[in-house]
Amino acid sequence: MHFKPNFLKFLNYLPSNVILQFKPNSLFFYCTKINPQNPKPFILKQCIALLQSCASSFYKLKQIHAFSIKHGVPLTNPLLGKHLIFFSISLSPSMYYAHQIFPQIETPNIFTWNTMIRGYAFSENPKPAIDLYFQMRVNLVEPDTHTYPFLLKAISKLLDVKLGEMVHCNAVKTGHENLVFVQNGLVHMYATCEYPESAYKVFEKMSVRNLVTWNTVINGFALNGKPDQVLNFYKEMSFKGIEPDGFTLVSLLCACAELGALALGRRVHIYMLKVGLIENLHAGNALLDFYAKCGRIEEAKYVFYEMKEKSVVSWTSLIVGLAVNGFGNEAIHLFNQMEGEKLAPTDITLVGVLYACSHCGMVEKGFHYFNKMKEKYGITPRIEHYGCMVDLLGRSRKVKEAYEFIKNMPMKPNVVIWRTLLGACSLHGHLALAQIARAKLLELDPKHCGDYVLLSNLYASEHRWTDVHQVRTKMVKDGVRKTPGVSLVELRNRVYEFVMGDRSHRQDKEIYDKLREINKVLRLEGYVACTKNVLADIEEEEKESALIYHSEKIAIAFMLINTLPGTPITVMKNLRVCGDCHLAIKLISKIFDREIVVRDRSRFHHFKHGSCSCRDYW
Ligand code: ZN
Ligand code: ZN
Repeated sequence: MHFKPNFLKFLNYLPSNVILQFKPNSLFFYCTKINPQNPKPFILKQCIALLQSCASSFYKLKQIHAFSIKHGVPLTNPLLGKHLIFFSISLSPSMYYAHQIFPQIETPNIFTWNTMIRGYAFSENPKPAIDLYFQMRVNLVEPDTHTYPFLLKAISKLLDVKLGEMVHCNAVKTGHENLVFVQNGLVHMYATCEYPESAYKVFEKMSVRNLVTWNTVINGFALNGKPDQVLNFYKEMSFKGIEPDGFTLVSLLCACAELGALALGRRVHIYMLKVGLIENLHAGNALLDFYAKCGRIEEAKYVFYEMKEKSVVSWTSLIVGLAVNGFGNEAIHLFNQMEGEKLAPTDITLVGVLYACSHCGMVEKGFHYFNKMKEKYGITPRIEHYGCMVDLLGRSRKVKEAYEFIKNMPMKPNVVIWRTLLGACSLHGHLALAQIARAKLLELDPKHCGDYVLLSNLYASEHRWTDVHQVRTKMVKDGVRKTPGVSLVELRNRVYEFVMGDRSHRQDKEIYDKLREINKVLRLEGYVACTKNVLADIEEEEKESALIYHSEKIAIAFMLINTLPGTPITVMKNLRVCGDCHLAIKLISKIFDREIVVRDRSRFHHFKHGSCSCRDYW
């Protein structure tokens, strides 16, 4: 049955003792006078029928509500209240209307409580869902199978694991703990609250695991930066014969991107082509992002141009991908194309554009886009955009201007901004400003190891060894540990990890022989180790050997031994590549004729024929 708005208006104009009666299976209706003895049940049924058939907008819902009031249905009626709340929540994410009605209902049933909890769980402010749950328990209403999934969803949004544990206890007490969707909710809650071990405990105990369960646990590990766990679970899942869906593949591709597991990601790509998931926009975007993050920008472009449907996310992913891979001009060109398509860029797109300008030394262009952001695209620059500008100035040796820019920012500069300035100072040797930035950083984030390292490097490059020593002692005293450099490479479907001076690998001897061989050949090419930033006043020779054993060099030596000549090498590194490794890898790419891609903390280096895509500007 479908009613026109005019009809609803007409309903409200009817005298209150006249009601409409519907003939079953017919569009006709007729008016009857209300039986004054018992008007309610009939009106009530009618209101509910109206709600079910024509509550397609809030306006109509309110008209029906008004109609019910006018015809004497009490506000406290639980049946009408239940339907009003249900429809108001399905029509709008705002809980305002439902919130007004709920307290008036006399003894709401469990369905109504659950509807309210669900509404809040999906709203912007999930906190009242928890209050409702407690209120419900005070009113001696027993939770049922539907209560927990919504409640756990709200808790996941609030990231309150203590509360989650309490609800977990209640679920055990009420005997709902063993239901698959309650367990899915628990796994999701623990995973999003960054308790992957607890998530795993629940997962392990589950007797039935559906696709949602696997996706939840896989996604949980992906969110918590545990990509190796993602791969393990995916393997186990395929072993059990469960086919992945779009959600699984998105998590999996994220993990592959993180680890640089190119071969596995490619297999996912083939699988997507086979089962048609390539047309799934989210999975397609994840694939594009994966190739870009693995430094395979050609493949990322291929995925982008093959996509039948492209969203702003797709454009943004490729723009950011091009920018971080050092193809700044192409990133800007693509951005212009996106503008031509009349697509509105997001703030992340603009971060990509500014990043492109910053890493390619396009100062003027960067300022052009920065100044245009608000008026042309309606995006108020956030602290990230200011960060890009500080970086842009810092990288182009305009360290003083960068400091002036920071002083004029409309918001309080955060640690990232000061760290960017400190980085620029250490790159261009500006000690006075470095000390200012360092003082600010000590105030804001005293335990960050990178800052100690940058300042100590700066002192080291000026041979101020007492100062170096002081910084290092303070670092030890404050209990700050230097993040060790880790490089990852993928070989025959396995990811190998190397740390500085790594001697744990079974091919240890071959690797170090290769490293010595590389060093010898490099010397013949006129290579002199760049020892400027080695962190102590040790003898020159010792410093050099410290440099040979940086994790990326060990990883490259390992790959040179184990792959055929001409095979490209991809290395993922968690820290910035040092100047010495950069120079050495350039030469390795020439002498051994290998294309080497290194992804460091902030960008990609594509080494080929003795030069790098960053043009030594990073
Ligand atoms: Zn290095
Ligand atoms: Zn480079």
